[in-house]
Amino acid sequence: MREIVVLSGKGGTGKTSFSAALANLAEGKVLADADVDAANLHLVLRPRVSEAYPFYGLPVAYIDRDRCGQCGQCAEFCRFQAIADFSVRQEKCEGCGVCAHICPGGAIERRPRQVGEVYISTTVAGPMVHAALVAGAENSGKLVAEVRRRARAMARAENLSLIITDGPPGIGCPVLSCLPDCDLAVLVAEPSAAGVHDLQRLLQVLQHFRVPAAVVINKWDIAVQRTREIEQLCAGRQVPLLGRIPFDSTVFRCLQQGQCYLNVPAAPASRATRQVWQALQQLL
Ligand code: SF4
Ligand code: SF4
Repeated sequence: MREIVVLSGKGGTGKTSFSAALANLAEGKVLADADVDAANLHLVLRPRVSEAYPFYGLPVAYIDRDRCGQCGQCAEFCRFQAIADFSVRQEKCEGCGVCAHICPGGAIERRPRQVGEVYISTTVAGPMVHAALVAGAENSGKLVAEVRRRARAMARAENLSLIITDGPPGIGCPVLSCLPDCDLAVLVAEPSAAGVHDLQRLLQVLQHFRVPAAVVINKWDIAVQRTREIEQLCAGRQVPLLGRIPFDSTVFRCLQQGQCYLNVPAAPASRATRQVWQALQQLL
C-alpha cells in the first residue's frame, strides 16, 4: 500500500483541485481529506456519507449539579474563567483538573468532549474518508491522524493499493500528522515570492522527517521568472519536478460548479495534469 500526501506551503495554491484531479485519474485508491480545518475536497467529489464516527478531544470538566454545594471554589480556582453559574463553559475549559481536585463535594469529573466527526463516504472517484471539526476546536493534528488511520484500514479491508490524501496547508501540527508512513509528499507550488519561500520551508520540514518529495508548479505561466526559481530550487535539492500546470480559467469555473476540471479534457490544465500524473506514477 502506498500513500501520496498532497501539500502546499499555504492555502489557495490549487492543492485541493489538484488532489481531486489525481483522485479521478488514479485507479484502485482510497481518498482522504486531511485538510480538516478547511476541508473542501467534498465540494468537488460530492461524497455520500455511509458511516459517521464521533471524534473526541481532550477531557473537559462537567459539574454534577445534584452534588454541587455552590461554594464557588471551582470558579475561583479556574485560571481560564471557564466556570460561571456553577457550570463549565466547555469551549474555555483546558481540562487541567484543578476544579475537580478542589471541589469539596466531589461534584466535578472530566469527560472527553466530542469535537468532530469522521465520515466514510462513497464518491464518483472512489471511497473517501473525511472529517469535520467543531469550529474553534483544537486537536486538528489528532483528527488528521484519525482520518489517515481510517483511510489505511479501508484500503486494507478493500484491498486497495493507493491512498491519495489532500493534506493541510503550511507546516503546522496537522501537516506533521500527515508525514508518518507517507510514501511521497507531492507539493503544489505557486510561482510567487511567497510561494518560493513557502516551498523552501516545506522542503526543509520534509527533509528533516526524511519524507520523499516531488513538486508540481501550478499556474506556472503567471510568473515565469518565479517558476524558474522553483525549478532551480528543485534541481538544487534534487527534488523531482513532476510538471507545470498553466493558469486555466476552466479550473475555477469547474470548481464553482462542483466539478473536476478533468471533465473538460481539452482544457490546458487537464492536459498538463494528465502529464503530471504520468510522471507521478513513475515515482510510486
Ligand atoms: S467547587 Fe464543587 S461544590 Fe463548589 S461550586 Fe464548584 S462544583 Fe459546586
Ligand atoms: S478543568 Fe481546569 S480549565 Fe477546566 S473548568 Fe476545571 S479548572 Fe477550569
